[in-house]
Amino acid sequence: MNDLTSLTLTEVIESLKDKKFSLNELNKSYLERIRKLNPKLNAYLAVNDSCQKIPAAIKDVISTKDIITTASSKILANFVPPYDASVIKMLDTQGVGVIGKTNCDEFAMGSSGENSAYGPTKNPWNLNKVPGGSSSGSAAAVAADLCVFALGSDTGGSIRQPASLCGVVGLKPTYGRVSRYGLIAVTSSFDTIGPIIKSVDDAALVLEWISGEDKMDGNCYGKKFVRTPLRWTHNIRIGVPREYFGEGLDPKVKKVIQDAIKKLEELGAEIKEVSLPHSEYALAAYYIINTSEISSNLARFDGIRYGKSRDNFGEEVKRRIMLGTYALSSGYYDEYYVKAAKVRTLIKQDFEKAFEKCDVIVGPVSPTVAWNIGEKINDPLTMYLSDIYTISANLAGIPALSIPCGFVDRLPVGLQVLGKAWDEETILKVGFAYEQVTDWRKDKPKL
Ligand code: GLN
Repeated sequence: MNDLTSLTLTEVIESLKDKKFSLNELNKSYLERIRKLNPKLNAYLAVNDSCQKIPAAIKDVISTKDIITTASSKILANFVPPYDASVIKMLDTQGVGVIGKTNCDEFAMGSSGENSAYGPTKNPWNLNKVPGGSSSGSAAAVAADLCVFALGSDTGGSIRQPASLCGVVGLKPTYGRVSRYGLIAVTSSFDTIGPIIKSVDDAALVLEWISGEDKMDGNCYGKKFVRTPLRWTHNIRIGVPREYFGEGLDPKVKKVIQDAIKKLEELGAEIKEVSLPHSEYALAAYYIINTSEISSNLARFDGIRYGKSRDNFGEEVKRRIMLGTYALSSGYYDEYYVKAAKVRTLIKQDFEKAFEKCDVIVGPVSPTVAWNIGEKINDPLTMYLSDIYTISANLAGIPALSIPCGFVDRLPVGLQVLGKAWDEETILKVGFAYEQVTDWRKDKPKL
């Protein structure tokens, strides 16, 4: 059987059952492809030659026993965790192994993959473009068929945005759905782990595998996602937030998103305009809470317990530690952190109100398609603005899906589908129905 590496997870499982090929052959095909293409893409930081299970690529902020885990930072250059993250153990019981650790922005801080201490990952659709971030290597590895699927982490968009820019599916689960034990903490009140993958149905399957209670994560509330057949519900109400289509959204991306919404309407959905009035404050609130928690979480990398000195932090990490320390300092705490926490509540309430009128909300994932490597790296504010449509889901703790919905200048565009807390099922149904009537995911980058 040719082309083992282009199969979806479901197809791999079926083919293994039918003995069309062995796990050994599957891993060999992937290792060969990785050897050929990784030098071009820089998607993997470490490759595991001895994987004998279904090969998954794991973002390098997720701890893997006996496999180096650097968070793409020099400060953890030699860190080999003595234990597996809970998600790795859960995948293991399903027959899934780690084929490699993927490049990302250092400590998951970034939107382009360029903040890695080990060099940028390239977008498989155009090697001069960024793949998005921070789960840059995970998204590039899936798009280039260098793994069956990948895990990423999403604190402000880091699963959805690179999935969108690389033309693959990405699912950020409800906060608390998936254990973060073994995930290197960035912003503990936003961090989630989820799949970056080749189809919506596969995303549902992986969510079922990795969700559910874990005593090792106090915020993992124990609601396991149970996959049901993703059947389209007629008369589903889809909300389109007017704030997500204003200034800043590239007109060509806007057109692609509007066409996708039309397609959903043709499928029988009821399309309604909704409003998320506090959206304009989301970015400011996000970066205050994000940097505050970073300044606290990264205090553990003090050069004593983790070998190397703090000089080994990159620019963006240092910037955020300083901003967060400032925001939390006495005299400024009320003005910044407390205010941001209040905005967070308002944003959550915006979604609750909108969801009284609709079942899911759709819009763009990213205001533009992938940009040139180097284009935004010296302008943090412009870089932060690329997260404008993704961060609100993290502030509100709700699930969100990114699915391929077209191209602009041969670069992929992702449609975002946001749902009520704990209702991944409905966003997956919408994504699945859309996927069935379109062919975007069959389009592959030429490498
Ligand atoms: N790009 C956002 C940031 O830099 C989100 C990162 C993430 O989700 N890890 O914070």
